[in-house]
Amino acid sequence: MSGQNNLGVNDQQLLRNSSYINGSWQSAGTYFSVTNPANGTQLIQVINADIETAELAVEAAKNALALWSATPANERAKLMRNWFDLMMAHQDDLGRILTFEQGKPLAEAKGEIAYGAAFIEWFAEEGKRVYGDTIPAPANDKRIIVLKQPVGVVASITPWNFPNAMIARKAAAALAAGCTFVVRPATQTPLSALAMAELAERAGIPAGVFNVVVGDDAKGIGKVLTQHPDIAKFTFTGSTATGKKLISQCATTVKKVSMELGGNAPFIVFDDADIDAAVQGAITSKYRNAGQTCVCTNRILVQQSILDTFTKKFTEAAAKLTVGDGQLAGVDIGPMISKAAVNDVQQLVQKSIAAGANLALGGAQHQAGECFYQPTVLTQVTNDMPVAANEIFGPVSPIIAFKQEADAIAMANDTEYGLAAYFYARDIGRIWRVAEQLNYGMVGINEGIISNAAAPFGGVKQSGNGREGSKYGLDDYLEIKYLCLGGLDR
Ligand code: NAP
Repeated sequence: MSGQNNLGVNDQQLLRNSSYINGSWQSAGTYFSVTNPANGTQLIQVINADIETAELAVEAAKNALALWSATPANERAKLMRNWFDLMMAHQDDLGRILTFEQGKPLAEAKGEIAYGAAFIEWFAEEGKRVYGDTIPAPANDKRIIVLKQPVGVVASITPWNFPNAMIARKAAAALAAGCTFVVRPATQTPLSALAMAELAERAGIPAGVFNVVVGDDAKGIGKVLTQHPDIAKFTFTGSTATGKKLISQCATTVKKVSMELGGNAPFIVFDDADIDAAVQGAITSKYRNAGQTCVCTNRILVQQSILDTFTKKFTEAAAKLTVGDGQLAGVDIGPMISKAAVNDVQQLVQKSIAAGANLALGGAQHQAGECFYQPTVLTQVTNDMPVAANEIFGPVSPIIAFKQEADAIAMANDTEYGLAAYFYARDIGRIWRVAEQLNYGMVGINEGIISNAAAPFGGVKQSGNGREGSKYGLDDYLEIKYLCLGGLDR
């Protein structure tokens, strides 16, 4: 990229600055800037796609559908496997690009690349196992046959907090099922998506099968991707508020819809838990990605009898976390995505302190810069305080005391969200009771990190619908067709 910072990326072709549509890179237009949240500097200027560009991407995906859906699953799998191999071969560069635009520490960014790539590997294999069915018919002269077929063109909108993996786990399932795909990544993090497109092209994925539209007109491009009649399915990851708007836009053409939305994850520590393991699990689940993941612990519920011990150990562990530019070695917590995000978190903390919470650690912007926030611990929190009732999306841990198991379950379920929950306990009866009563799509039991390609990721209630990853992850990209074969007298 002449005239632009090379960002220390070895393979400069991975640093793309325009939309990838029908196997070509958009060559002209106005620009918008991508900045580094660690220091506010401009990383690159990206050509700003408009509504017409989004429509071209849909057209390209539509035109590519017949060939791709008719390509045998094992051929599709080979191309996807190439894509996976290339992503892993370029893990360092992709991780570096991701940290520059998103901020998370480099080790975490490389971890995200491996996590995203794992979905491509998983679904490349899973696409070979899209089995139909035969069903005993109610009459001898008939046969009932069930086919599973790709839904068609899939459109998606993804957030900035996982600029690679949120795209990979949708695109992998779509392509494996025989669908073609258009994604609009978040304005703040287009570079990881474009690097994925560069590698898809090198892998031999045909033109029009994987398209990336980068533009800052979220609403305008969003309307195309939710209302275009040639799109069969829309899939979104982002906030519940935006998800609700997009679901209603999809209603105009009755699209198949799947939603990965916000969360308010409880992390419950019972009195029979291994406290050190619980502290470690909570630290990892809370503070990774500066607290900006949908499955991050949002509220820590601790049984009264172990409250002091847990709180002391947890606060000491949080105080040891290193905050700084994610490109630097040894950093645990990078910047938040923006100054506005820091302000939102600060508001939640201050309102909760005003409502009676006690500040045990942190509680302010970090000296590393205006997008950094100190690892924070609040005690004496109640479930109705702003910091517990809202998705925090920052490095803040509210600790709430409870007495009985039933109280913890009631508090945990007292939210409109239902994405991830966690609890630590050793008693097997308690483990089953609690696991079954938590009204969440995913439950980590003595585990703070639960996401992987083999497991079904998704939420209930206002955290969304549909599942990504696992053998269930293909279902959202397939239609069931019933064939009734008659006239078979015998
Ligand atoms: P957001 O505001 O909903 O944005 C997500 C995406 O939607 C971005 O690409 C954004 O574009 C776009 N967008 C916003 N308003 C739009 C509109 N009116 N029409 C079309 N597109 C629109 O969410 P966020 O704050 O960036 O992301 C964090 C949220 O995502 C959290 O709630 C988190 O829990 C959730 N999340 C959920 C999962 C999951 O799997 N359940 C995973 C990760 C994140 P711009 O970038 O241009 O604003």
